[in-house]
Amino acid sequence: MDDKTANPVHVPVLVEEALNYLQPHPGHVVLDCTVGSGGHAIRILDCIKPDGFLIGVDKDMEILQTARQSLSETAGTFKLYHADYSDVDEVLRQARVDKVNGVLLDLGVSSLQLDQADRGFSFTKEAPLDMRMDRSDGITARDLIHRLSEEALADLLWKYGEERYSRRIARAMQKEEKTVGIATTTQLAALVARVTPRGKSKIHPATRVFQALRIAVNKELENLEIFLDKIHHYMAVGARIVIISFHSLEDRIVKNKFLERARENVFRILTKKPICAGDAEIRENVRSRSAKLRAAERI
Ligand code: SAH
Repeated sequence: MDDKTANPVHVPVLVEEALNYLQPHPGHVVLDCTVGSGGHAIRILDCIKPDGFLIGVDKDMEILQTARQSLSETAGTFKLYHADYSDVDEVLRQARVDKVNGVLLDLGVSSLQLDQADRGFSFTKEAPLDMRMDRSDGITARDLIHRLSEEALADLLWKYGEERYSRRIARAMQKEEKTVGIATTTQLAALVARVTPRGKSKIHPATRVFQALRIAVNKELENLEIFLDKIHHYMAVGARIVIISFHSLEDRIVKNKFLERARENVFRILTKKPICAGDAEIRENVRSRSAKLRAAERI
């Protein structure tokens, strides 16, 4: 069988726009902190070869194997690290790199992770409620539900999922957890569908609940803040940083941290408003619909 059709693919979002702001040149050292399956990284590597160096980071060990495979097909020097990008200082220490010329962050989950049924990211695929991007670390969504009080769970669904029926869902979840236990994705999805009114929305009623749990399990917002509080120390003057986010809370963090750095005269903001995907890209790749790109330059 042809490998390309057998493997699900992740189509990278806003690639041309990201390259346009990153401006990778031959000889540059570029840090891709969410290398995933290497969709953006391969294009960057093409621009910085033959003397450039790409450092790729991902907290998902399995996806790193995919990146290794696809990056190996191009000429260009790269090294991959299994780490959380909030530990970027440790990664750069190991790579023996003081300053980089470009930084890319393409947040959220990869289509490969969503398609891998046993990871528990998707409510359409029966699986244990795991949702960890790094399966070697941290607590699963199932543990999280088990540990949280009804009130804390409701707050989480409200804050990270903007779920308007958060209280009602949290009550039903805790009731089920205390009786039969919530073990699988499809069980949770069915429960949410049962207790929420059927609206006109085309999205599944459990979409927001799954998003909220995923953000909490992976500490996505905390890690982003930690990262943004230190990355400028590792950027050479003139280095560019590009961040693609998929959630309004993430975009707000990026916007505010960039503004903070701009006030300190550390960054010049290159995108007054976030860059979004055009109609053509959205038609080809629905994932790009909610993407927002912001960029800044180290001054
Ligand atoms: N740009 C990539 C896709 C990135 S998808 C491509 O074109 O292929 C987002 C990736 O970021 C996922 O693989 C996920 O595992 C990883 N990730 C998310 N949060 C992370 C974190 N805090 N540290 C390291 N990797 C993270």
